[in-house]
Amino acid sequence: MIKKIDHLGIAVRSLDESVKYYETVLGLKCEHREEVPSQKVRTAFFIVGEVHIELLEPTADDSPVAKFLAKNGEGIHHVAFGTDSVEAQLAQAKGAGAQLIHEKPIEGAGGKLVAFLHPKSTHGVLTELCQPKSGCSCH
Ligand code: ZN
Repeated sequence: MIKKIDHLGIAVRSLDESVKYYETVLGLKCEHREEVPSQKVRTAFFIVGEVHIELLEPTADDSPVAKFLAKNGEGIHHVAFGTDSVEAQLAQAKGAGAQLIHEKPIEGAGGKLVAFLHPKSTHGVLTELCQPKSGCSCH
């Protein structure tokens, strides 16, 4: 079951430049930085109430985020829905005819389990499903 919007993923060319924007223009504070090898990105997180902002800078030319930047430029990359079971949510999405990028959850930032639905089957929004790993009490 989907519980909330967990975070918005935003593709940026430079993590340092965009962190500066969020800190100086919006007055937010970067809470956490992390490299996510499975998605070939470096990330920076801001907490805005219940919702996190996840800035994504590619670490390789074949990173999905590098491809997104080449095609679309900087901007909103994905919307992530928090769920208590990525597996169950994937099964529901598949059953309803959505195209899955990941058939099984993979390891995302913050030690979460994540999986993506293809934007071709989600009316243009790359959709992430994410779930805290069991034992994590921070979410
Ligand atoms: Zn994300």
